[in-house]
This record gives sequence, structure tokens and C-alpha cells, in this order.
Amino acid sequence: MAYDPENIFAKILREEIPCDKVYEDGTALAFRDINPQSPVHVLVIPKGPYESMDDFSENAPDAEIAGFFRAVGTVARQLGVAEAVGGDGYRFLANTGRDAHQEVPHFHVHIFAGRDLGGMIRRA
Ligand code: 5GP
Repeated sequence: MAYDPENIFAKILREEIPCDKVYEDGTALAFRDINPQSPVHVLVIPKGPYESMDDFSENAPDAEIAGFFRAVGTVARQLGVAEAVGGDGYRFLANTGRDAHQEVPHFHVHIFAGRDLGGMIRRA
């Protein structure tokens, strides 16, 4: 499946629609989820056109992969949720494909924090 440049996160990257930005560097953009599932719910996306973790891990250059995952850690520390900066921790996940209910076809990592996040996964 080809990357869809009209997906909502591509529009956010092009600043065609606004976002509540919390971090940006040359590789990644982070902004608050519009429908938060925890007191802190931030999305981190690469600036490159990758539709999923599958696509990103297979096709992104090593420097982009390293830069992106460093950005995820930086965002968690900047938000104050990482234990390294006195926070209580966080969960990050990337829904990938149908069974994971990935809604937006631009690779993104969710950072959830700000409450006890419970067990790892719940049966549907
Ligand atoms: P997925 O299910 O693809 O892993 O998650 C997509 C996420 O994007 C959802 O948590 C949803 O609330 C969020 N989202 C969808 N549209 C927008 C938007 O226009 N702005 C922001 N900030 N988040 C969005």
C-alpha cells in the first residue's frame, strides 16, 4: 500500500491543520492526542512519509530511525513523565495494521502517562 499524503498527520506536518505541539526536531514532531486516553497522551511521528512501524523499520535510513527513537525518549523526559526526571513512568506503543486498530496511516508512537496504566493488554 502506498503512503497516502492526505492522511491527517501528513496534513499536520504540512501545517494545513493545527496541533498542540510539544516537541519538534529535524526528524520528529510530537503533539497531544485530540482524544486523550490518559492525563498525558502525546503522539510522536517521524517527519518522513512512513505509513506504519512495518514501513518505517524496513525503509527508513538508520539515522532517521535513531533520531526518531531518541526523540521519543526526549519527549517523555521533557513531559516530566520519565523516571529519569522524577516522573512515574509511561507506556509507549505503536498500533500497526488491522488487528491493532491503526487508524491513521502515518507511523506514530503513543506516549501514555499520568495515571496507573493497568495491565499490558485487555481482551476485546
Ligand atoms: P491509532 O489508532 O492510529 O494508533 O491512533 C490514532 C490517534 O490519532 C488516535 O488516538 C486519535 O485520537 C488521534 N487523532 C486522530 N485525528 C487527530 C487529529 O486531527 N489531531 C490529533 N492531535 N490527534 C488525532
